[in-house]
Amino acid sequence: MLFADADSAYNDADYVIFGAPFDGTSSFRSGSASAPQAIRNESYNFETYNPNLDVDLTELKIHDAGDIEAGEKISTTLSRVASATRNYVTRNKTPIMLGGEHSLTIAAARECTPEWIIILDAHLDLRDEYEGEKYSHACTTRRLYEEVTKNIIEIGIRSGTREEYTFVKRNKIHCYNADQIFKNGIKSVLNKIKEHIGDETIYLSLDIDAIDPCYAPGVGTPEPFGMTPRDTREIIWTLAPTCVGFDVVEIVPDLDINTASLGAKLTREFIAAKRKHQQT
Ligand code: MN
Ligand code: MN
Repeated sequence: MLFADADSAYNDADYVIFGAPFDGTSSFRSGSASAPQAIRNESYNFETYNPNLDVDLTELKIHDAGDIEAGEKISTTLSRVASATRNYVTRNKTPIMLGGEHSLTIAAARECTPEWIIILDAHLDLRDEYEGEKYSHACTTRRLYEEVTKNIIEIGIRSGTREEYTFVKRNKIHCYNADQIFKNGIKSVLNKIKEHIGDETIYLSLDIDAIDPCYAPGVGTPEPFGMTPRDTREIIWTLAPTCVGFDVVEIVPDLDINTASLGAKLTREFIAAKRKHQQT
């Protein structure tokens, strides 16, 4: 089954959706490998018309390329994500990855060569290695910082080791925690972020556990006191116009199907918000 309204031919498409069904390094509860198909199923629940943005997805050129073949190892899977993403980017298409676990972002973001990477996550993901694996989902942001760009912004954060928090301070990583958003409002945080990035390009990664587990319980590593879906949507609406790639990762549909539904909805919001900008 394809993502709803992703019925354009590959050659015509402005957006290419692809699935990456891999959860091999997941540390607590696994199961995100089945998320790409669950997100696609849930995408059929929604109307094509987006009344907030006045965009109808049927007017857009969206292609669903299906799933990449996950390898047994993270290294194999990362190289397949990289070659798929490279294919789309070199043809001027915006890649949208349905994970899978967060480590897959490392390959997708690298191929998009963004000036900034913005990560929505409960967790810092700044470990140098986890259980002996440097490309664990617990090390995503660290690898992005070392291998892709030093321009990193993390939003929704509320969990990390003391070492990870020290790394944030020492390396001046822009970090907006979930309590800050709750206290000051998402608009004020987004205004600060816009001061950093100007109109430079962004890769936006949504680790769905950034959202409070009351709203999104279908995740491998739930962390209370998170963001609201509405604030998350506001971030996506604001940033989508300058995004060169997007992903939604870490959904475990077997634990809660509504989390996959939320992932599908926010993916549709991303597509519509990016398009809205192109029109104006
Ligand atoms: Mn993460
Ligand atoms: Mn996380």
